[in-house]
Amino acid sequence: MQEELHFPIVIVGAGAAGLIAALAAREAGAEVLVLERDHTPRGSTSLSAGLVPAAGTRWQRAAGVQDSAEQFTADIMAKAHGEPDPALARHLAETSGRALEWLADRYGLDFSLITDFNYPGHSAFRMHGLPSRAGSELMDRLTEAAIRASVELLCDAQVTNLSADTDGRIDGVAYRRPDGAEESVGCDCLVLACNGYGGNRELVAAHVPALADALYFGHPGNQGDALVWGQALGAATRHLSGHQGHGSVAHPAGILISWATITAGGIQVNVDGERFSNECLGYSEQAAVVLRQKQGIAWTVFDGRIAAIARQFEDFRLAEGAGAILQADTIESLAAAMRVPADALRAAIAETGSGTTDRFGRDFTTSPPLAPPYCAVRVTGALFHTQGGLVVDTRARVLRQDGTPLPNLLAAGGAACGVSGSEASGYLSGNGLLAAVGLGYTAGMVAAGGVVFP
Ligand SMILES: Cc1cc2nc3c(=O)[nH]c(=O)nc-3n(C[C@H](O)[C@H](O)[C@H](O)COP(=O)(O)OP(=O)(O)OC[C@H]3O[C@@H](n4cnc5c(N)ncnc54)[C@H](O)[C@@H]3O)c2cc1C
Repeated sequence: MQEELHFPIVIVGAGAAGLIAALAAREAGAEVLVLERDHTPRGSTSLSAGLVPAAGTRWQRAAGVQDSAEQFTADIMAKAHGEPDPALARHLAETSGRALEWLADRYGLDFSLITDFNYPGHSAFRMHGLPSRAGSELMDRLTEAAIRASVELLCDAQVTNLSADTDGRIDGVAYRRPDGAEESVGCDCLVLACNGYGGNRELVAAHVPALADALYFGHPGNQGDALVWGQALGAATRHLSGHQGHGSVAHPAGILISWATITAGGIQVNVDGERFSNECLGYSEQAAVVLRQKQGIAWTVFDGRIAAIARQFEDFRLAEGAGAILQADTIESLAAAMRVPADALRAAIAETGSGTTDRFGRDFTTSPPLAPPYCAVRVTGALFHTQGGLVVDTRARVLRQDGTPLPNLLAAGGAACGVSGSEASGYLSGNGLLAAVGLGYTAGMVAAGGVVFP
């Protein structure tokens, strides 16, 4: 590859992982170029709720929340059935909070802690988000920060090929411009931050067959390029069946309905008005459960109290504006609007007041029973993103199959194997942005020869 352009660090992908890696590299004083295939940087990050789990943060201390990296690591490992690399889980649990505080202090990102509901598997309140609780705001703030930090960001530049010597040392990448022109840039270190393969139907069918025909709700540009390039270089891959699904995407509106609707006391029923599962195990594994119901749909049923909690999410407000959320003062009128049998719906709602652990193993002792006004939204299950990928160490270095690092290739975010193991049920809420923030920060610092955190 003949390049006239050369940067010490090139990053492929301008989602949260790529932009945070770029900001960290700038913090350590390096020149960095980010190549992004889209016209503007959005990625799956902009589609997300933008919630990042972190332990031991100042926001937690201010709210009186007791937490630690050790406790967070234990939660990650428990949810993923002990499958992830414990050193990586611990590293991310230690890094994400410090990275969020750094983003707040250095670039004014206005994080706050969610304390009015929790997600399954988290033993402490540790979800941090920006005011709108929308990933689009996270992307806007990160993009502004990158501009302020003089990160070179080249959009409309789809990386098509890596150039490497026989030892796997990358010396540059080729990228395609919208007019079809091929250009190239040399580098000393390459960071892959181009997410996973959720947008690639063939790879999803091969690795996540249960969701092969499911709605893909992530960014279409996540085509598995990092996986394919890494494999060609002899990189190790792991947990390729691991993924984040979601069992509550409004259908047909196509809007994410926060799982707060469930964890704060709501339930799901099928088209016959009957409950079918313990909804509180996790939204990720619930995707396949919902898709197994008649017509592949369910109804998330909650009430006015829960709607007030969910309303902090921009997506929920959008769903209300789109008319996707039904509301009624009686169970009979809600059932009529949902077109499900009223007797079945009444029985299902009555279970929320049982004050016991129910037949599915759901604990109804901690939330109040549903009460008027009742709400319901028609939902389906969807694939959000893949969690398997290139194996990295705690320095974000991509490892070969023998465990040694490739000379100058790093990976962050969904391009790397995360900490969710091989099953949908291994996904602890926030594992996606945890890997984007934690590995992004690590990769940028390591690439620039900086210290990850003193
Ligand atoms: C609806 C939804 C809600 C979610 N909510 C949450 C949440 O609240 N908390 C959480 O932790 N996770 C959440 N996730 C997951 C989270 O969004 C991802 O894990 C995270 O955004 C991954 O960040 P990333 O930077 O690795 O990838 P992305 O944000 O997808 O960025 C990758 C970028 O790489 C670019 N790219 C790809 N290939 C190339 C190429 N060849 N050349 C150049 N550019 C390329 C893409 O265009 C994209 O801009 C959610 C996901 C979805 C879909």
